[in-house]
Amino acid sequence: MLSNNVASYIIYNKQDMGAIQMIGDMQKWTPNVAGIIEHAKEIHPQTEIISRLVSGEIHRSNYEKVCIRSRKLASALEKDGIKKGDVVATLALNTYRHLEMYYGISGMGAVTHTLNFRLHPEQAVYIINHAEDKIIFVELPFVPILEGLQDKLNKIQKYIVLCEEHEMPETSLKNAISYEEYIKDGDEEYKWPILDDDAACALCYTSGTTGNPKGVLYSHKSNVLHAQAALTAMTIQPDDSILMVVPLFHVLAWGIPYFGPMNGLKLVMPGMQMEGEPLYELIDQEDVSLAFGVPTIWMGLLAYCRENNKILSSVKNTIIGGSALSLATLQEFDEVHDVNVIHAWGMTEMSPLGTTNVPTPEMQNMSKEEKYAIQLKQGRPIYGVELKVVDDSGNELAKDGKSQGHLMVRGPWILQKYFKADKDAVDADGWFDTGDISVLDEDGYMTIKDRAKDVIKSGGEWISSIDLENAAFGHPEVAEACVVGIPHPKWDERPMLFIVTNSGEPVEKKSIIDFLSDKVAKWWLPDEIVFLKELPHGATGKLQKFELREEYSNHYMEK
Ligand code: AMP
Repeated sequence: MLSNNVASYIIYNKQDMGAIQMIGDMQKWTPNVAGIIEHAKEIHPQTEIISRLVSGEIHRSNYEKVCIRSRKLASALEKDGIKKGDVVATLALNTYRHLEMYYGISGMGAVTHTLNFRLHPEQAVYIINHAEDKIIFVELPFVPILEGLQDKLNKIQKYIVLCEEHEMPETSLKNAISYEEYIKDGDEEYKWPILDDDAACALCYTSGTTGNPKGVLYSHKSNVLHAQAALTAMTIQPDDSILMVVPLFHVLAWGIPYFGPMNGLKLVMPGMQMEGEPLYELIDQEDVSLAFGVPTIWMGLLAYCRENNKILSSVKNTIIGGSALSLATLQEFDEVHDVNVIHAWGMTEMSPLGTTNVPTPEMQNMSKEEKYAIQLKQGRPIYGVELKVVDDSGNELAKDGKSQGHLMVRGPWILQKYFKADKDAVDADGWFDTGDISVLDEDGYMTIKDRAKDVIKSGGEWISSIDLENAAFGHPEVAEACVVGIPHPKWDERPMLFIVTNSGEPVEKKSIIDFLSDKVAKWWLPDEIVFLKELPHGATGKLQKFELREEYSNHYMEK
C-alpha cells in the first residue's frame, strides 16, 4: 500500500496506514490520459506534430487534429463493441497515428498494448494471446508479419491497417480495414468517460532473455504522475522541439507522448528511418532542440555528422538512456556539437524513468573531466522514486560510491505485479529488484555496474563489464564493444571482449590492450579479444550477452 505524505516524503510501511486520518476537502482525482490531449488542443492547438511516413514523406499535424482524430477513433472503437478493459494492440512506428491510438484507445477505457515489430514471431504470438488482444492496428510494412501469424492469434477480431483507404493492400488479414476508413465516421464531439481510480491504460511486455515475456500494465494515474515528474526532472522548456527516436512501442516512449502534449511541445517522429542521414535531416529541418534516444542510435547519427562535416546546431540537450552512455559519445556531443548530454536510467517496470543526470549549479565550476565523471553516472532519483542497494541477503549497503549490490526501487509508477501474475513482484515493503547491480554515492547519484545476470566475478572480485565496454569504445577503431564473463579454471570467470570495428575488419589486439591499460585495473584487462561483424542485439536493441556467453562458454576451459 502506498500513501503520499507531503511532509515526510512517501510512506510505504503498512503500519502507518492504521491511524485514522482527517481527509482533505479537495476534489477527487481519477485521471484519464485523454485529459492531456484535450489540454493540448485547448492551449496549444497549432503546435506541430511532425512524422516521417513509411513512404518517406513528411506529414504535419498538430495537437488540435490529433485530439479530434483520437475522439473519432475512440467512438469508432466503441461502435465496434470494444469495452472498457479490452486490450487493443498496436504494431506501429512513431507517427501521428500512433499518438492518436495512445489517446483514442486508452481514453475510451480500453488498454493500449504496444507491440515491438522486432519480436521473434513465437514471442509475438505468445504476447498477443497472453494479452488477449481483440484488435491489432498494424503499420503497412508489418502486414505480412501478421498474415503469417494470424492462424495462431486466438482472440483477434479485426486488423486495422495504418493507411489511407486507397493505400489498402491486398491482404488475407481477417476483417481488414484501413485506419482512415475506420475513423471516418467517428464522432468529433466524443466525450471521454470517467474512469475508475486505478483504471488500466497501457500494456508493455518486457523483453526477457529467459522464460516468457512479462507484461507491465500501467494505469492512467501512474502515467500521468510519471509524465509530470518527468517534466520537472529534465531540462525541458516550453518551446522545445523534441525528436522522439525512442519507439512508441518500447515502454511508452519514456512518457514523451504524455508529457509532450502536457507542455505543448513540438514532437518530431522519424517513422522507420532511424539512420544517421535521415535523422540529421529531420533534426535540421524541424529545428530540434531536445533529442531522446538510446546510445546506438546516437552513434549512427554522430558517425554521419563526423563523416559529412555536419553540426547539430539546433540541438541544445539530448537525453540518453536504455544502455550506458560512454565517454566517447558524451565528449563528441559536448566538444563537437555543443550539445548537453543528460544521462537517464529506467526500465519497463518503472514507466520507465528512475534517475536523470541534469546539470547542477556546482557543475558549472568544475573542470571538463570532473563534469564528465558525474555525467557518466546514471543520475539521481527523480521525485517519487526511491532507490537502495542491498547485498545478496537483502541488507542495505552504504551510499558511499563503492558498495556494489542489487538495486531496489519503489514508487508510484513502479509495478506492483506483472500482468496476470498471482503474486506481487515486490517485497513486503514495496521494493522491486531491478536486476541491475549498482552503487549509490553520498550525493545521491546512482551508477550501474552490470545487469545481475551479466556480472563478472574474477578471483572473488567484480569486474564491471559496462566500465570495460565504455573504455574499449573510446578506441578510435572501435564501433561497438561487448564484454562477457567466461568460465575459467583458475579465476572462476575471466572477461572476454567482443569488438565490431569501424571498418568491420580486425585490428591489432595489442593496440586495444595498450589503449585499455591506463583506463582500467590490470587484472580487468580481457584475456581474449574477438572481432565480430556484428554483435547480437535483442528486440529493443540491447546486447544479448547470453548468446556470446553460451557460444564461448568452454573457451578458457579448453586451453
Ligand atoms: P528495458 O526494460 O528494456 O527498458 O530495460 C531496462 C534495463 O536497461 C535496465 O534495467 C538497465 O539494465 C538498462 N538500462 C537502462 N538505462 C540504462 C543506462 N542509462 N545505463 C545502463 N543501463 C541502462
